[in-house]
Amino acid sequence: MIYKRIINKLIQQVEIRTIPTKEKVVYLTFDDGPEKGILDFVLDQLDKYNYKATFFCRGDRAEANPQLLELLRQKGHSIANHSYGHPNAFDVPADKYVADIEQADGILCTPLFRPPYGSLTLSTWLKLHKKYRMVYWSLDSEDSKLERYHHLQALGKLKAKTKKGDVVLFHFCQRHEKETRQLLPEYLAWLHKENYRSEGIGI
Ligand SMILES: [Zn+2]
Repeated sequence: MIYKRIINKLIQQVEIRTIPTKEKVVYLTFDDGPEKGILDFVLDQLDKYNYKATFFCRGDRAEANPQLLELLRQKGHSIANHSYGHPNAFDVPADKYVADIEQADGILCTPLFRPPYGSLTLSTWLKLHKKYRMVYWSLDSEDSKLERYHHLQALGKLKAKTKKGDVVLFHFCQRHEKETRQLLPEYLAWLHKENYRSEGIGI
């Protein structure tokens, strides 16, 4: 397992974690949707400041909610692949893992891919890296930390650590809805006050 983790860290170094820029831009990203309720909330928040973001969709949830996927396209956000059924590359054979990502690609049609749990093995990366750009993150909002989540700590960390070109991780699924609803409005208001804007990740 230690070997797997070291290789995973090396893969993260050669793929996208930040997008270097001299401008006050961050790249807000949302994982694990689309799901009803929370998506509308996130979109309303982004619209307040005319922010764009990148939505790393699960293929199974996009397939179940085609109207939500269409809404993301209409709003001009970037759509990206976060697998079909959210497998962990550490736990499933490489061929099965790649087949899952390809199944999601049939629905989402994008070369941007974020591995669930941020985990890839060397064999899965070798099979995927020519077709996909892996997008990790440089700043975790911690809205998915469940019992470890603490609102003011999470907000304080975001305010202290945000810098130009950060790729910021949030979620847009019902499992983490409570935390996302609590954290996102205050963070966006702070970004706006600090003259940051947010853009979707281009291809
Ligand atoms: Zn995920």
